Amino acid sequence: RAKSQGGQRYLFYADELSGRASRRYMLELGLRHAISRGQIYLEFQPVFDLASEKLIGTEALVRWRNPEFGLIRPDEFIPLADETGMIIPLGEWVLREACLQTQRWHAAGYSHLNIAINFSAIQFRQEKLAEKVLPIILETGIAPDRIEVEITETVAMQDAESAIQTLKSLKNSGVRVAIDDFGTGYSSLSYLRKFPIDILKIDKSFVRDIETDPDDASIVRVINALGHALRLEMQAEGVENLEQLKFLQNEGCQRAQGYLFSMPRSAEAMTEMLAQYPSQFGFRQFGTT
Ligand code: C2E
Ligand code: MG
Ligand code: MG
Ligand code: MG
Repeated sequence: RAKSQGGQRYLFYADELSGRASRRYMLELGLRHAISRGQIYLEFQPVFDLASEKLIGTEALVRWRNPEFGLIRPDEFIPLADETGMIIPLGEWVLREACLQTQRWHAAGYSHLNIAINFSAIQFRQEKLAEKVLPIILETGIAPDRIEVEITETVAMQDAESAIQTLKSLKNSGVRVAIDDFGTGYSSLSYLRKFPIDILKIDKSFVRDIETDPDDASIVRVINALGHALRLEMQAEGVENLEQLKFLQNEGCQRAQGYLFSMPRSAEAMTEMLAQYPSQFGFRQFGTT
């Protein structure tokens, strides 16, 4: 009896494994045609300045809607795109589309808006990255200093010396640079000082329990103080409630994004938010009074 149960469990497991393998394989095949079939699109999440309470920009977040698999999260398909090389055309598409949309917002009168664009590990490691990125930016007509290129702390530290060179050449093109998910990787502080970066984004895992976990609160305080000491602009991600917002404002963190303000939204929904926002009073609309 035990044996037959074991056998069943084994079968079940094998089935799961092949299910997982075939999902991966199907996604890999699907990803090759995802752009040309119009399945890739962007959402935008607003970023706020915590002192002025103004909407200062958005982060572009890529989405893939596949007829067979539904909506696939970037956490699943970006690693796949990195492994298969599809990230190169995908990353170019994201960059162009994010710049074009932001250029439209600029033309509509929101000329102050920044656009943050995530670069994956493989994308960032491309030979002569700046020479590939700059023509796309120029083609879209957007001012390069409105663009914030985001790489994660892990990607930055993988080969820190070459990352410094790449970041320098990107900055020579006029774009600004942010380190994403800060606190989740292993940063050497001496490298952090050498990186020509502008913005440090505190990972949302530290922000989540800021009010209940004294250790997380301390970590956020220390990261924030470190960033200030290095004259970086500090940005918190994953701000979901008012307590977290107040904590960050008290610490002098300059910027924030999160579900408290808005989930990532379509370009159309973002345009609506832009139209509403200046007529409203600061964060009061989110319940802060
Ligand atoms: P990220 O760049 O750190 O983006 C932040 C993630 O947190 C996004 O997930 C966003 O939807 C989510 N988020 C925003 N506010 C909150 C909040 O208040 N609470 C919580 N729990 N989550 C929040 P998303 O869109 O699923 O993206 C996941 C990751 O995929 C991104 O992390 C980024 O590393 C990557 N990614 C997304 N778009 C792109 C892209 O165009 N290119 C590349 N290379 N990577 C991308
Ligand atoms: Mg990001
Ligand atoms: Mg992040
Ligand atoms: Mg992330």
